Amino acid sequence: MRTQDNFSSLNYPQNGARKVREEWLKRFANSPDVLISASRRQTVVPVLDLEIGGGEFVTMAGPCSVETEPQLMATAHRVRQAGARILRGGAFKPRSSPYAFQGLGLEGLKMLSRARRETGLAIVTEVMSEDDVPMVAEYADILQIGSRNMENISLLEAAARSGRPLLLKRGLAATIADWLRSAQVVLEFGNPNVILCERGIRTFETATRNTFDVSAIVLLKQISHLPVIADPSHAAGVRDLVPALACVAAVAGADGMIVEVHPDPAKAWSDGDQSLDFAGFDEMMTAMNPYIALREIALHGKRRASLHEADELQLAGAAQ
Ligand code: PEP
Ligand code: MN
Repeated sequence: MRTQDNFSSLNYPQNGARKVREEWLKRFANSPDVLISASRRQTVVPVLDLEIGGGEFVTMAGPCSVETEPQLMATAHRVRQAGARILRGGAFKPRSSPYAFQGLGLEGLKMLSRARRETGLAIVTEVMSEDDVPMVAEYADILQIGSRNMENISLLEAAARSGRPLLLKRGLAATIADWLRSAQVVLEFGNPNVILCERGIRTFETATRNTFDVSAIVLLKQISHLPVIADPSHAAGVRDLVPALACVAAVAGADGMIVEVHPDPAKAWSDGDQSLDFAGFDEMMTAMNPYIALREIALHGKRRASLHEADELQLAGAAQ
């Protein structure tokens, strides 16, 4: 009770704001359907038996790339044990060099669906070309639109029309308005199930791979009804920063996160530096618990606190 009282002062003044700031209504005027309105406060994206945006902080985890069956299966089992609900893994990889590993393609998709069968985890995987949408949609529960494709309208259209939920990553150099505009396009193509993913943006800073824009998460939670998740792995570029950024994302009000995990990061075919090993992932998931609790209170503090109070009053009444 006392703890609740103390925590309720953490309630972010604007989080769950009743009204979208006038100025922002103008700034984001060309993506009206993604903004909170009287009729739509929060989109809840259904994925198998899960809900994204439904209040629970949902963790998606797995390797950057699907490499081999043992690599994927071991990772799937371990991340599930640690509390992840969705398995990530790229079968089609956007790489800087055309000579770098491009992903296993269909073979990788088949491994992902075997991992789903074995573990019950839902699958999120990237689709890079509109021609691949039907194939990827057959195997995946969520289609990931990568940063480099955020503004690829023909891909967005094909992915939207597949009917699968989309994980729309923020473009490397996209403003929040650009990003919301792409989400708007997906909604216009008839697919309401868009999850926004903040994965860091290009800035003058080079010590981190990207700059994690935590304000984007806070802002989006105030203006948009779409679920927002964080990708601390691609933001950081180095595993040492990933757990702290994940905690920050939770407290900022994110609806979940997507994290890279590999059985042996030093041998990963892509993004090894930013991948956590199993022990690192377990440790992070445990360390996040208080931050996830704090998120609950920050987002719903007053309401939850008063519910607790009501419960306690009722209990006290019953005891008399
Ligand atoms: C990825 O998720 O592995 C990836 C390539 O992400 P992004 O599109 O954010 O760079
Ligand atoms: Mn990656």
